Amino acid sequence: MASRDIEALTQILARLPGLGPRSARRVVLHLLKKRETALAPLLAALADVEARLVTCGVCGNVDTSDPCGICADSRRDPSLLCVVEEVADLWALDGKRLFAGRFHVLGGRLSALDGVGPEDLSVDALVARVRRDGFAEVVLAMNATLEGQTTMHYLAERLADSGARVTMLAHGLPVGGELDYMDEGTLALALRARRPVA
Ligand code: ZN
Repeated sequence: MASRDIEALTQILARLPGLGPRSARRVVLHLLKKRETALAPLLAALADVEARLVTCGVCGNVDTSDPCGICADSRRDPSLLCVVEEVADLWALDGKRLFAGRFHVLGGRLSALDGVGPEDLSVDALVARVRRDGFAEVVLAMNATLEGQTTMHYLAERLADSGARVTMLAHGLPVGGELDYMDEGTLALALRARRPVA
């Protein structure tokens, strides 16, 4: 039986995304065994990030500097802006180096059900930023959910006279996908987004 302290630590870890009680126990055991090489560096890294954690005043990313590493990176294409719902979406797109422009995090999506309106999201800041920085193209990279698409159409309207070309992500068949297995929504969107055979 683990002591009460170790059990408490295990329970905290078990609540993290992707970990459950069993993985949490394995992590704790590993940390206890490798006190010098795993536990100490982890503690130092956590304390360091915690002490310097900030939300970027330009894009809404979470980083240890403001402006964040992405906004401060002068090699990025300053004419391209990608709008996402959450920081996790930004990290997913950026982590895979799929987009070389700038980002803007809305902080959520419009939702009548949850009472989330434009004023609860970083919408005014987005519109002001697009006007100020003169982006050539704004990519609305919302989730392919009803709320995501509602948010996208609202933003497209707000940005209509911004001078930027406003684009959206294509929806279609996943690579390797077979028509048989697609849900109706995916099939409908793929049909609607059909294009000439290259
Ligand atoms: Zn930033």
